[in-house]
Amino acid sequence: MLSLPVYNQDMPKPLSTPPSYLIINAKLSGGRTGWLLVNGQKISSFSHEPPGDCLIEAVGGVIDAGGANLLPGLIDIHTHGGGGREVMDADPAALAELSAFYASHGVCAFLATTWAASPKAISSALEAIQTAAARPLPGARLLGVHLEGPYLNPARSGAQNPDKITRADPASAEAWLASGLVRLITLAPEFPKNLDLTRRCARLGIRVSAGHTDASYEQILAAQKAGLTQITHTFNAMSPFNHRAPGAAGAALELPGLYCEVIADLVHVHPAALRLLYRLRGPDELILISDSIRAAGLADGRYPIGPDDPRLLVVQDGAARLEDGTLAGSILTLEKALFNLKTATGRPLSELWPTASRTPARALGLQKTGDLQPGYRADLTILDDSIAVLFTAVGGKAVFAAEDLVLRGF
Ligand SMILES: [Zn+2]
Repeated sequence: MLSLPVYNQDMPKPLSTPPSYLIINAKLSGGRTGWLLVNGQKISSFSHEPPGDCLIEAVGGVIDAGGANLLPGLIDIHTHGGGGREVMDADPAALAELSAFYASHGVCAFLATTWAASPKAISSALEAIQTAAARPLPGARLLGVHLEGPYLNPARSGAQNPDKITRADPASAEAWLASGLVRLITLAPEFPKNLDLTRRCARLGIRVSAGHTDASYEQILAAQKAGLTQITHTFNAMSPFNHRAPGAAGAALELPGLYCEVIADLVHVHPAALRLLYRLRGPDELILISDSIRAAGLADGRYPIGPDDPRLLVVQDGAARLEDGTLAGSILTLEKALFNLKTATGRPLSELWPTASRTPARALGLQKTGDLQPGYRADLTILDDSIAVLFTAVGGKAVFAAEDLVLRGF
């Protein structure tokens, strides 16, 4: 039996953060160069004019971005793990390590994402998330839970364990919803019980996304009327597009008013399909997700899927597969997804940035998050033009800085 990999046993040393600081010489949202002032947990102001010596002297700290891109902190609403850890480990310490791992990839907030498992295993994961959420975390903010399954369609299980897939059962579902942690649920809406749960979630303000689904176009339309707002990893694990039966993929391409997640690792989705989806949805409806598993950030190799799942995962050539070749989640990180979208579409970062921050924030209904605006949360990411992460701040607090970044007062 292979042992589970461990990426990061030592938590990174916390950076000290001055109460106010300026980020200068930065392309704001990937566009024109300017500066941005952080005061406490919030963005105070920004300008494209030179900051002036008075302002520089008045603040406690200065970061020279050296012409790199300053973006609203990335938000990953669909991630299972990374750095050797996973949400389904049901361990608060693993969630703290995940928080640090995500921050090193520019992610400021995430939804801890579960998968189809026994009700007991899912409940244990939720308990660990509850514990972790009550503690200070070293990096990205834990926004809550994305419950991916178990209410899926076994015909479209992908790498989800089909034996653990069930129809929505009010008893277990109500307990999970009552935890107050669940903000998003992926389900297959073609089953009446799952459609009932869609209505229930919509009443509670919990977002519902169709995924691992064999739904017809018409069934997605019916689910949208019941409160469905989103499509999970568009094109993957769903009824494909056919011109006489457009399926869930056709609904994702065509129905107005749906947010569409996509795994832009260029393995799960061909660059041409990514371009098509972007052309139809645009930056305000396309949401980049990582759908990453524990092997994200690890070297190529063979790893057990989890502590009590002995199946092997083969990590090679930028993908993680089961031994039979089925894709098993991704090893993508969100800054790389943004880079891939830029490469595939040829569009500038100044146009694409919302797909990794503002759009997921809106999809979840987060207030004053995901944009570089005065009064907004100072969740910030500095990325260079090759999309390497130079700096991450969560609620103003510096949580990650690359060694060659010029910082004063930190
Ligand atoms: Zn997933």
